[in-house]
Amino acid sequence: MSNKTKEKFIATLMGCAIGDALGMPIEGWKREDIKKQFGRITEITAPLPDSYTGQLEKGQYTDDTILTLALAESIVAKKGLDLEDIAQKQLEAYQSAPPRLKKTFGKSTREGLLNLKKGIPPTQSGMSARPGNAPAMKMAPLGLYMYAIRGWKNGSECVKAYNFAEEIGRITHWDKRSRVSGGVQANAIESLLHGVSRQEFIDTIIYECTSYEIPPYSAGPIHREKSLYSRIIWLKENKDVSANDAHAYLKSSGFVIESYPFALFMFQKYWNNPIEGLIETVNWGGDADTTGAIYGALCGAKHGMIFPEKWIKETKNLEPLIKAAEGIYDLGKNKRLIK
Ligand SMILES: [Mg+2]
Repeated sequence: MSNKTKEKFIATLMGCAIGDALGMPIEGWKREDIKKQFGRITEITAPLPDSYTGQLEKGQYTDDTILTLALAESIVAKKGLDLEDIAQKQLEAYQSAPPRLKKTFGKSTREGLLNLKKGIPPTQSGMSARPGNAPAMKMAPLGLYMYAIRGWKNGSECVKAYNFAEEIGRITHWDKRSRVSGGVQANAIESLLHGVSRQEFIDTIIYECTSYEIPPYSAGPIHREKSLYSRIIWLKENKDVSANDAHAYLKSSGFVIESYPFALFMFQKYWNNPIEGLIETVNWGGDADTTGAIYGALCGAKHGMIFPEKWIKETKNLEPLIKAAEGIYDLGKNKRLIK
């Protein structure tokens, strides 16, 4: 793997943090209110004291990046995929977070992690039927790992990696659409590292849904009308519509069938203008830190370190993400791991 690839690995996890911190002050906001209060968020900005994230500081990232880091650090420590360790590292990340950051963890995630604490195994701890965003927002490190091991690791480990996103999602989420979204994000990251075209990128994310969410493959509840698949098919058929029209249809709430396809739509629409696209995405509000984190990770995987210098400087605590990204990259370099 080349130095450019290493840069992209780092930029993927850094992009997650930067997008998270960029959207953090306006998490849960409506677009009109963002306009009224801020005009447009174009820089890393401090939250207003009485807002949902008002307890955080300028440049702080939230649960999205904290859980992404926990997954990345587990992959590095275990030199591979260990569900029990991933679950424990996520629980530790939650438990060691200061109260003001604990508040940023979604309800389903908190419930799943507390079930783990009670001793429920990670294959059963996610009990929430709420289609939350968490599996998609934290899955970028799995995409890095899939890229790192492809082509030299033994076949069963590659197959395991492809199926593992759903197991990681299952730690906190039972809803099939949430669990599928993790696989979509991991594959999206891997495909971007391989240098796919815009059309290939769209085909990749659709393929992931058809593999896991559509009968006869699906083992969970099917939501024909509001499946992730149906929303991403809409994206394919409407890939050039305005952001306004896309948001009117897809929306950007904390539900994975809204904000995730919206973030994917924006990423492919701004294929060659990614920073403007990231700014525009968070300014639609809703789950803005999460759309920012998801978009930022995709952006780093495709483009490498293109984030403005000022954003990098103002986003706090990037060092552990850089170290973890380098660690996953090194797993791909270290061919002695082949059994
Ligand atoms: Mg968050």
